[in-house]
Amino acid sequence: MSDAQDDLWRDFPRTATEFEARFATEEDCRAYWIEARWGGEPACARCTSKRVWTIRSGTTFECAECGHQTSLTSGTVLEKTRKPLKLWFRAVFEISARRNGISAKDLQRIMGFGSYETAWTWLHKLRASMVREEREPLGPFVQVDEALVGGKGGPHKELVLLAAEANGRVRLAHAANNDATTLKRFADAQIAANAQVTTDGHAG
Ligand SMILES: [Zn+2]
Repeated sequence: MSDAQDDLWRDFPRTATEFEARFATEEDCRAYWIEARWGGEPACARCTSKRVWTIRSGTTFECAECGHQTSLTSGTVLEKTRKPLKLWFRAVFEISARRNGISAKDLQRIMGFGSYETAWTWLHKLRASMVREEREPLGPFVQVDEALVGGKGGPHKELVLLAAEANGRVRLAHAANNDATTLKRFADAQIAANAQVTTDGHAG
């Protein structure tokens, strides 16, 4: 995939105020999409030419070189949708605003969908496209801890490192030991550099 799929939601509004201000119309949403997907310059999906013009009320581009028609959403999470971008963006906002998760039932209610199945499908599609955000390092307040897990009274227990955002996401990692190097590697991978980290006082 030549375009930056991972980055589709990178500059997406984080607050309701910003969301309302940026996405008042379907055209606003298209402008965001074109920026996120093509860096502002739509390109033909077949020959990558940037000599394209808009057809079908802005939902598709036709290539001046090869005549291929590229839909705004083709090859993306929103491929073949008949719903306005504005509706999808609203769903993205509602999902991303709830760090602790949102159920399909909740999404159905918030969006006013007639069917639970639609809500379920949207939720899973969008979540999958938003994984990048899920992978972002934890912050700004993070508690780091460790635990031994394994069979009750069994001879072998496994060490698990845990980092938890205040009221937010949690990361777990299986670790061979809890020395300073291992803990640092875990923290570097999971926690933002500027985060304020608290621990149970372990020397590591
Ligand atoms: Zn072309």
